[in-house]
Amino acid sequence: MINGEKTTGQALRWGMVGGGRTGQVGYKHRTGAQRDGTYQLLAGAFDLDAEQGRDFGRNLGVAEERCYATYQELIASESQRADGVEVVSVATPNFSHYEITRALLQAGIHVVCEKPLFFTVAECVEIKKLAEEKGLIVGVTYGFTGHPLVHQMAAMVAKGMLGDIRLIDLQYTHGFNAGDDSDASEAVKWRTNPKTSGPTFVLGDIGTHLYYLSEVVLPELKIEKLLCDRKSFIASREPLEDHATVLMHYHNGARGRLWVTSVNAGNMGSQRYRFVGSKASVEWSDAHPDQLSYEIQGEPIRILHHGMPYLEAESLALDRMGALHTEGLGDSWANIYLWIAQAIRAQQRADQVFLAGHHCPGIDAGTEGVRWLENCVRSADADASWVEYT
Ligand code: NAD
Repeated sequence: MINGEKTTGQALRWGMVGGGRTGQVGYKHRTGAQRDGTYQLLAGAFDLDAEQGRDFGRNLGVAEERCYATYQELIASESQRADGVEVVSVATPNFSHYEITRALLQAGIHVVCEKPLFFTVAECVEIKKLAEEKGLIVGVTYGFTGHPLVHQMAAMVAKGMLGDIRLIDLQYTHGFNAGDDSDASEAVKWRTNPKTSGPTFVLGDIGTHLYYLSEVVLPELKIEKLLCDRKSFIASREPLEDHATVLMHYHNGARGRLWVTSVNAGNMGSQRYRFVGSKASVEWSDAHPDQLSYEIQGEPIRILHHGMPYLEAESLALDRMGALHTEGLGDSWANIYLWIAQAIRAQQRADQVFLAGHHCPGIDAGTEGVRWLENCVRSADADASWVEYT
């Protein structure tokens, strides 16, 4: 159980780029990072609108002189300070992740970056090399994978409780883009423009969450080939997609089916994960993150609740609230940020043994998301044909 006790020593000196007043994801970062006092927010270039960013930073309690107009100013100034930030989170639109991450690493600052990490695998490989040369961590905020029951599923798979894995069924759908974009917000505008979003819209925006979570539950499973069919129901979003289905063949013969869309009008189901083995299945949704459906063939369905002693140790170790009390997205993000802080502290003391055994969504997790997107686009562009996974 996690109870706020410090496991990482002094709070990490922390800054943010993006995640300003109107940013959708900024508060999730602050909720996660500040939960255990593991990070202290000391600096930021929070907003493209410098004045609004400064005002927002002041209201967050950041000193006036450490609310910067641009990330370049932040890096230049913080690098000169003895008490400059050690780690900065990047919560900006996709196109700027690469340049901001690279600049931070070059300045010797650890990075926590949003997904989809970058536009290409080549960029990921380059950044991994840079981070290794500098001895720095790049964490990636796949914010849903800190839920204790996600790790319950992973432990059940690892212990053979499902038998041989046969089917992987993944769905992340909503209807928020069912209408046209005539009065679209800035967040929708950049998501539907390839220059700012990258080669995908919903595949990168929400599909990468599905893919990474399936990797956490099934770390051994490798895709051999896939077929991606994507479409935009709103013409102005082309060539990007607001809907996609992906079929996947895995090396062990398992089959996968993934559906992402932002035009599922009226739907509030969000994410659903079903992993089917030869003996039993598990199903989990972020709409009810406290509950996991465990279905053994021929027996009544069991609903497992977070925090209960019958769960696997791997799940109980991540629980914060205890059974009966709601464990939610903020708790999941707190776990992600804690893992990243533990990785940074281990890196600072050159503890390679700890790092080798430590679970944390890092540069490799970000890279695999981008690799999956590249394969999806290659298939979709070949008229939705099967492609070997590369
Ligand atoms: P948004 O458009 O709502 O907010 C972006 C924020 O970044 C704004 O405050 C904007 O002013 C600021 N900004 C943009 N460029 C900047 C720059 N160069 N310097 C400083 N500030 C800058 O976007 P969003 O929905 O918050 O998404 C941001 C990123 O987070 C995207 O990569 C998105 O994919 C990701 N995201 C992740 C999750 C998750 O669950 N992990 C959820 C939502 C969004």
